[in-house]
Formats: sequence, C-alpha cells, structure tokens
Amino acid sequence: MSPAPSDLAMLGGAPAVPRGLPAPRWPVVTDADEAAVLDVLRDGALTSVGRGDNEVARLEREWAAYCGVGHAVATSNGTTALALALAALGVGPGDEVVVPALSFVASALAPTHVGAVPVFADIDPEHYLVDPAAVRAAVTPRTAAIMPVHLHGLPADMAELTAVAGGHGLAVVEDAAQAHGARYRDTPVGGLGDLGVFSLNASKNLPTCGEGGLITTDRPELGRRALLLRQFGEDLNTDERAYVSATAGFNAKLSAVQAAFTRSQLARFEATAAGRERAVRRFLDRLGALPGLVPPRALADRTHAWHLLRFRIDPAAAGLDVPAPRLRAALQRALRAEGVPVGPYQVAPLPAQPLFADGGGWRPAFPPVPVLDPAATPVAARTIEETFVLQKVHLDPGNDGLLDRYATAAEKVWEHLTVLAEYADRMEYRPPWARPAGRRVRPVAEGAR
Ligand SMILES: *Cc1c(COP(=O)(O)O)cnc(C)c1O
Repeated sequence: MSPAPSDLAMLGGAPAVPRGLPAPRWPVVTDADEAAVLDVLRDGALTSVGRGDNEVARLEREWAAYCGVGHAVATSNGTTALALALAALGVGPGDEVVVPALSFVASALAPTHVGAVPVFADIDPEHYLVDPAAVRAAVTPRTAAIMPVHLHGLPADMAELTAVAGGHGLAVVEDAAQAHGARYRDTPVGGLGDLGVFSLNASKNLPTCGEGGLITTDRPELGRRALLLRQFGEDLNTDERAYVSATAGFNAKLSAVQAAFTRSQLARFEATAAGRERAVRRFLDRLGALPGLVPPRALADRTHAWHLLRFRIDPAAAGLDVPAPRLRAALQRALRAEGVPVGPYQVAPLPAQPLFADGGGWRPAFPPVPVLDPAATPVAARTIEETFVLQKVHLDPGNDGLLDRYATAAEKVWEHLTVLAEYADRMEYRPPWARPAGRRVRPVAEGAR
C-alpha cells in the first residue's frame, strides 16, 4: 500500500527529519585547536614576514610533505593563492587561461586579477569535471595556462590535461580548493600540475578558523616567486627585512593564528577523511538505490575527497516522462520540506555570471571578451538544471546519524515519485540562472559612471 500524498511535508505532512535538531557544524573545534591558537597569541609571532621559522613556515613544510612536493606557500585565501600561482608563472595581460565552465567563481576571477582573460571549457556530464577535449578546443595562440578544478573533491583527468598542456607548452595550475588529500593514480592533488592551489576557508575539507590558502609546487623557482609575490615582491634573501621590492607583489600573507589552527586540524585530517569516507559511502549506497537519482561516484584511478555531493536526476531511469530540470526542482522542494537541505551549487555556468555576461565592473585589458551565454557551455548549463548538491557541512562523521536521517527522508520522498512528477509538470519553472526581474546585480563600474 502506498502512503497518502499528504504524507509529504511539502503538502502539509510531518517532516521526516525532525525540526530543532542541532545544526551541523564545520569545522569541528577541539581543545587542541583552541590551545594551538592560544599558543600563538601568547607567543606573539603573529605574521609570516621574512624567512623566520613560525607557524606559517611549519604549516608550509607539513603540507608540502603531505602533497609530496618540495615547496608550499601559504596565502590569505584560496583566491589569492590562484592569482599568485598565475603571477608566479608570469601569466598577465595578453594571456588567456582555460578554466572549467562549472566551478566556484574564484576559478574565473583569478585570471582577471592578474590581467588575463578566462576562457571557459565545458565539463563532462557524468563527473562534472572539465572535459579535456573542450580544453584542447579552447586553446589559442594566447593561451598561457590551463586550470583544471578538482570539483567537489574528485581529481580532474590530469593525464589527458597534462598531455594537452604539454602539446602546446602550457602551464597547469590545479585548483584543488575542494580536494585536499584526493589522489590521482596514487599521486596527491597539488603535486600533479606545475602548481597546485588549496583553500583553507572554514568551509573546506582542511579548514582554518577563517580564511587561508596554500600553493604547492615541486619547482623551486616557482616556489620562490610565489613567496616573494606574497609579500610585496620583496627580496627575502636577507637576514633582516630589507624592504626592497624587485617585482609588483601582493600582500597575501597568512596569519600565524590561521596557520596554527590548520596545523592542528591537519594532525587529524586523515582520520577525519576516513570517517567521512565511511559515512558518505553508506549514505550513497542507500541513495543510489532510488530510481532516477544518480549519486556521485569515485573513479577506479582516483580517490574522492567528498567535499560535497552532487546528485543528477534522471527521470527516464525512473520510468517517468517529465523534463529532468522540472523533476529536479520538484524533488529539491520536497526534500527541503522534509528537512534535507539540498540545493544548487552555482546557479549559472561561469561565463553566464553577471560579471562576464553583463560586463559588470570588469573589462579585459585586451579582446576577446569571453562568450557570455549559458548555451555556450551546454553541459554545464544542463548539469546546473538537472542536479542538486548536499553541502560539506552535512558530511562530517561527527554529525551523528544525520546522513541516515537524510537517507530515510529521501526514501520517503521517492515513495511519492509519481505525485511529484505530476507536480513537476504543472509547477512554474525557470532555470536557476534566469534571475527574477528586479534582482539584477548592478555592476560597480556602472554605478561609478
Ligand atoms: C573555495 C574555492 C576557491 C576559493 O577559495 P577561497 O579561500 O574561498 O578564496 C577557489 N576555487 C574553488 C573550486 C573553490 O571551491
């Protein structure tokens, strides 16, 4: 006997996940983390100026060793780390950087921060990673670098991508902001390209208590350049700080407090990741049994850091004849009402962000302007319409039983799949990037004119 439609919380039933449970928290802050931060405050060495040994330098050594590379440079956040990595390579005005059409906006902003132009390559529909064939097609005589993103924790196809780069003499910068500890053919991410970039933002798998970033490289010259670009372009080969700037650098230093917190988290990173792996696998086993729900998968030659989980809705696999974007929207609404906070990750392909699409506040130093249309990268657009994600904060093994509750709620929603398919057919629908009138973001430059 199938339950009555009114069981659905969306239609007035009781939610499957009881309201008022404690909100999941990330990062988990232990006594050891607090003590590490206090030690820095009491010690007084708060910044990473120069070459002296301090918490920042210790974090750099530990992270370089973890990634199996010779050098790591800590920065103020992941976005500055991306820009510094590009700047260390000498990427600047006149250059193009190939980036995926689906990523966090920082992947596309970083090239603009050094005066270069991001050129967008579409993704593959199964793992949502940049498609090497699309990267190859995006290469022009102006291309200086390609920036694969290990999206959601799964490493990109680095063998294919380094082959494309090698064939054209291009540098590779890995955006590993979501993939700390993931491995591709047994090599940790961050050690696969010329440089690797990590975010230590509090939301990421290896967090700090705020903002931070890390650059990795096995090439001493790039490590040295990243280090001096981090600090005003200063010559750091003096025992006492000389205040001599050889190049136009940034101030992108990490504070010692942030470094100490991350070192403390790093000490139990492997154990946390293993616990998350077990919790996520159990969750995905249950959700993978629901017809028409396609869970994320690891691949045989790489591990998945499970930063967040993206699910695709495939109506045909459930025997339903309703457009996937509509069914996704209906299921998302039903799941949220049950207390499962799934939602979009990115509401538009990167080239359709107002920044690029409306010329908002950013003008490339030279043509061409990137293509400005969701249809230009159709797989990224379709992915955004046909998928939803569960964010990282819910995946921590310390959130006792939360994923099991979510799975039970999803199983309840799936009992009403035919009702929800009818609802999906009738509901008002617009793609996530169709911003409702009046909510258009006004570019800064427009306001200044
Ligand atoms: C978070 C993130 C960044 C930027 O990192 P911040 O530390 O927030 O500046 C860059 N790329 C990707 C893919 C990210 O998820």
